[in-house]
Amino acid sequence: MAARGENLGLLQIFAEGADAEARLAAILPLSSALGDAMSLALSNIALREKLRSQALRDPLTGLYNRRYMEDSLERYVRLAERESRKVSVVMIDLDHFKRLNDEHGHATGDAVLREAAAAIVGGLRETDVACRYGGEEMIVFLPDCDLEDAANKAEQIRARIESLSGTHGAKVSASLGVASVPSTSGTSAELIRAADTALYRAKHNGRNQVAVAPLRQGWRSQSEATKDAPALLPIAAE
Ligand code: GH3
Ligand code: MG
Ligand code: MG
Repeated sequence: MAARGENLGLLQIFAEGADAEARLAAILPLSSALGDAMSLALSNIALREKLRSQALRDPLTGLYNRRYMEDSLERYVRLAERESRKVSVVMIDLDHFKRLNDEHGHATGDAVLREAAAAIVGGLRETDVACRYGGEEMIVFLPDCDLEDAANKAEQIRARIESLSGTHGAKVSASLGVASVPSTSGTSAELIRAADTALYRAKHNGRNQVAVAPLRQGWRSQSEATKDAPALLPIAAE
């Protein structure tokens, strides 16, 4: 079965017993029509998948694009709120990337961006979502992940990105900001703002590091909570 110049599969029809050959010959026109219809259907599915991916993914890095990110973050946060679960974000900005482009060329810059994206995705769970937020800025959603685990994950991502240094004769590093619902932020807009502010702090403190957003007033961290208690408790409830 082929469509639009592409081989999509093979339709095999068998017959056994008496007059097998004659019976096969008799259904040949029907099988041929069936094969054509199936080829077209398969090709349409593949095309739809490709268009869907183009609409959702950034072509350079293969990460989800900003539009997808904005559409889905809101949903993740609402779901977390409704089910009393956590969701964290890690915002990642490559350090001195303008300088890297200037010194090593835009093509190297593009290659580093692709490798950084792959390094990020390589360290994530299947349910985590990595998006390209803007130029050399990326963001990861971590569903069911509290602030402390997200900070650990961010540190792993930082190390993975730093380990890209040298492959293109350039130093590569990133600064990262971490925030969480519900411990640091209440809404998706607050979550992004908190991660962004933390990221700014990581830059300000010397880059190539992770900064974590401060806990919201009235919240205390898991390490301070007792073992039986939920991970994050409003202090007022004690
Ligand atoms: P900082 O450590 O403060 O983040 O410094 P920076 O140089 O990374 O930040 P700045 O925002 O000044 O510059 C970002 C640079 O990233 C500028 C732009 O040319 C580069 N950039 C953005 N998108 C791409 C891209 O798709 N490919 C390449 N090669 N470079 C890009
Ligand atoms: Mg940068
Ligand atoms: Mg930037």
